[in-house]
Order: sequence, then C-alpha cells, then structure tokens
Amino acid sequence: MTQQTSRRVALVTGGSRGIGAAIALRLARDGHAVAINYASSSAAAEALAAQIRQAGGQAAALRADVSDPAQANALFEAAEAALGRVDVLVNNAGVLHVQPLAQTSDEQYEQMFNINTRGTFNMLRAAATRLADDGRVINLSSTTIALNLPGYAAYIGSKAAVEGFTRVFAKELRGRRVTVNAVAPGPVATELFMTGKSAELIEHYARLPPLERLGQPDDIAGVVAFLAGPDGGWVNGQVLRANGGVA
Ligand code: NAP
Repeated sequence: MTQQTSRRVALVTGGSRGIGAAIALRLARDGHAVAINYASSSAAAEALAAQIRQAGGQAAALRADVSDPAQANALFEAAEAALGRVDVLVNNAGVLHVQPLAQTSDEQYEQMFNINTRGTFNMLRAAATRLADDGRVINLSSTTIALNLPGYAAYIGSKAAVEGFTRVFAKELRGRRVTVNAVAPGPVATELFMTGKSAELIEHYARLPPLERLGQPDDIAGVVAFLAGPDGGWVNGQVLRANGGVA
C-alpha cells in the first residue's frame, strides 16, 4: 500500500551496512522518509528500517541487485510504491577487490564494474524519468582515484566512470532543478575497507591523512546530508572528496 508522505523521500542503495546505513540514518534524522536497498542483508536492512520507524520516521527495506537493469527499475518503483515518490537518490552500493591488475580475475573485474559502475548507471537511467523535480542525486566515488594506489586499478576504473556519469548527468537534467554530485571518501572503517587487511596495514592507512584517523561512516553521511539538504543546493556536477586531507 502506498504511504503518501509530505517528507522528502530518499532512496539509498546498499543501505543495509557501512556507509549506506549511516547515510540512511542521517537522512531519516534530517526528516527524509528512507528506502533502504540491500542485496542480501535483509535482517540488517529490516532492523535499520524498524529503528527509523521507532524514532518516528518512515522507512522501507527493499531488496534488489542494482547491477541488474530490471531489478534497478523495479527498485525505483518499489520505493515509489512504499513511500510515494523519490526526491533523493544515493548510489552507494559498491564492492572492492584489492588485487594487482595482473592478478585481477575476470570475476573480480566483472563484479566491480557490474555493481559499482553498471549499478550506478542503471539507477541514474531510472532516475532520469522517475526522480521528482527539485531532486538530488549523490553517487559514491572514491579517493583512491586521486591516490592511484597499486592494487586498485579495476576499482579505480569502476569509480572513474561514476565520476564521468556525475558530471554529464548533472547537465542532462537541465530544467528539472535536480543536482547531481559525487562524494569520494578516503579510507572509511567498514567491512569493505577492513576485509583482508592486517592491523598494521589498517594503522598505515589511518596515519595517512593529516587528521590521522580512518574516516567513520558518519563522516561521509554528513557530507551526503549536506548535498541532499538545502545548504547544498548550489553545488552541482562536482566531486567532493571527503578524506581527512589524504589527497
Ligand atoms: P560495505 O560496508 O561493504 O557495504 C556495501 C553495501 O552495498 C551493503 O549494503 C551491500 O548490501 C550493498 N551491495 C553490494 N552489492 C550490491 C548489489 N549488487 N545491489 C545492491 N546493494 C549491494 O561498503 P562501504 O564501505 O559502506 O561502501 C559504500 C560505498 O562507499 C561503496 O560504493 C564504496 O565503493 C564506497 N567507498 C568506500 C570506502 C571505504 O573505505 N569504506 C572508501 C571510498 C569509497 P548487502 O548488505 O545486502 O550485501
């Protein structure tokens, strides 16, 4: 049943864990109704939606693999069916495999480009006709693009495309009063970053930025909230690096 709402509605892909979960909570706290997309973590996504509802907000947990065009379109429709419309789209779903280019498997390459790049493309294409006027689009890129870190070639490639989509799509939505921006975090303490790294390597990354710590999901959620909110309305077609000054 459609829940019409006077709140602005945000759809966050990959909202079940990590940065996406922090973004969903923060946007809910800022007064948005939130559609929380996930691929497999249904319990985490449902628990987050319940937490938002208990705090007086509106939320729905919606399963979809954004790399599949039909599921991406259906996700937009499901968010509209649950919450009435979509005003803010946050393309956050992503995966990382750290591997020198020579050792990157076809499967790893395909997974990163299918989810990070094609998933974002699928959601942008759906947003072109479905996002409400006066809307906001925020894509997650990565500061690895500026660092050119060995081991990150395919991941950086998948995110470089996202930055290209951001700049062009901002222009293609002329006349709709929609802004399209990207946020490019540095290392953030989530499963995606921590997996497969030794304590020493994590400490190394934590010491890289002049602020001498890892980013936390809330650091990134605050930047996304700025771009989604009234104060960010004149920022358009930009990539905002949120990384403690690492690059
Ligand atoms: P994370 O903790 O691993 O969470 C990834 C999220 O993406 C999960 O909610 C996961 O859903 C979802 N997801 C994965 N594949 C999906 C698919 N096919 N369809 C829909 N959802 C899917 O990652 P994170 O660190 O929060 O990263 C979030 C974003 O920030 C990514 O785009 C990442 O590239 C970017 N980023 C992260 C860092 C960092 O250091 N952490 C730095 C720069 C950029 P399930 O729970 O259902 O699996």
